[in-house]
Amino acid sequence: METSKIKVGLLSGVPTIKLRSPEGLHVKGHGLSFSCKELEIHTDETFPVKRLYRVFTDDFERLEDALDTALKSDESPIRGAVEVGRGIEPYVHWGYHNAGFWAFAGEFDGEEEALSFARHLEEKGERPWIKSELRGNCPDKVKVITEKGELEAELPLDIIPSGDKTLVLDLPVGEGFHWEHRENLHYRGSFEVLGTPGGGLYLVNRVSLEDYLKSVVSSEMGEAPLEALKAQAIAARNTLLSTLKRHHYYDPFDICATDHCQVYLGVKGENEMSSRAVEETSGEILVFEGKICDTRFAKVCGGVTENFEQVWGGKSIDYLISHRDSDSNGLLLRTEEEVRNFIDDPPPSFCSDHELFRWKIKVDRKKLESIVKEKTGTSLELIDIIPVRRGASGRIIEIKLIGKERELIIRGELRIRNALSESHLYSSLFYVVKLGEKDGLPDAFEFRGGGFGHGVGMCQIGAIGMARMGYNYREILAHYYPGTDLIKVE
Ligand SMILES: [Zn+2]
Ligand SMILES: [Zn+2]
Repeated sequence: METSKIKVGLLSGVPTIKLRSPEGLHVKGHGLSFSCKELEIHTDETFPVKRLYRVFTDDFERLEDALDTALKSDESPIRGAVEVGRGIEPYVHWGYHNAGFWAFAGEFDGEEEALSFARHLEEKGERPWIKSELRGNCPDKVKVITEKGELEAELPLDIIPSGDKTLVLDLPVGEGFHWEHRENLHYRGSFEVLGTPGGGLYLVNRVSLEDYLKSVVSSEMGEAPLEALKAQAIAARNTLLSTLKRHHYYDPFDICATDHCQVYLGVKGENEMSSRAVEETSGEILVFEGKICDTRFAKVCGGVTENFEQVWGGKSIDYLISHRDSDSNGLLLRTEEEVRNFIDDPPPSFCSDHELFRWKIKVDRKKLESIVKEKTGTSLELIDIIPVRRGASGRIIEIKLIGKERELIIRGELRIRNALSESHLYSSLFYVVKLGEKDGLPDAFEFRGGGFGHGVGMCQIGAIGMARMGYNYREILAHYYPGTDLIKVE
């Protein structure tokens, strides 16, 4: 059970890959086969590269339907359909896979053009989303350095370890976040090395679904009661099955190892409790109307979860809807005043026992202006920061920065969090207070907010809170993914 292999992208676009195993690594490539204990693969080839922004409008099971929809729109010369998703046994056997086709309505060189086209489609009642992808030639030759010497090799390369784990050196962890650093991590399974468009290399880890889950459950949740880990195990299994080759439909792997898909730290992530949680829930998945659920999760919801479409756009999802993270409901976060009250005087929530349940961040105006300039390219002398639109949970999805000379509108939960902080604001559930004032300009701004992460789906700290209160994993999943069914695939 669950021994099917998946491909996880560990590295992408790096010039060097370093692997080490005292038991030995067997390297196979075009006309090449040798063993070593230390392996360094290097390329310095670069090619012109272009980043394309594709605007997708809908998701179909059949190619014909995706093409029909794409071609119906006569606004862009480049439109069509792409194949996304894939399935793995034994889930495919029972009809659970995520394979399908996305209709795309336009392709752009710049993100701004893509965004404005997407907004235009939104005004027409469509629900577009944007994906960017790199185009360019890939390197096909690499220099391979081992403890025995140096040679040239053609890509792709297969690396089969003799031992049960391999050390991968200098892996970036937490890229783009404030905890970003490099680590040497052990991974189970085997590896593939391929060229990345424009230059650089991919390192792909082929690992059994079970080993992968044992690692991600603990990496994503850390120390937690068994019932919370079991809920996380099912959320992780569902996330894998529903995102396989979707986030990364254009990459040579199924899912990446970072926060973008699921954090996968290999052997370091495994522990006795997370392994038990995976084993005790073997084959269990959440389904809704016969389909694998998209079980997104985030660290701390701050007392209220968010609707799927308010963070990612596209269609709404029946079970990823905003609700209070407690037994009671009665959610009223429509006005600025209601949101402020909710942040300042929060009602009891399953996740209230966490340092980021509520937070305050003060930033000097000049410092914030330089962050905004760096992140958005716009220079402003900041007079005020005003939320324009909030989602159902009070999270800001459109914000206005008022400068002396001009205004700047920022849309999208992650873009807002990114534009107002050196790394990211913890969440977009916040309000802004101006501190001090001279000549109409404040000395500083204070962000007062709640939660950490996008807030859609399961609140991981809330799941731990529920487990501590005696709820079992079925009740935890039913709370965060209302209306779904838990089934077991044998
Ligand atoms: Zn990813
Ligand atoms: Zn919560």
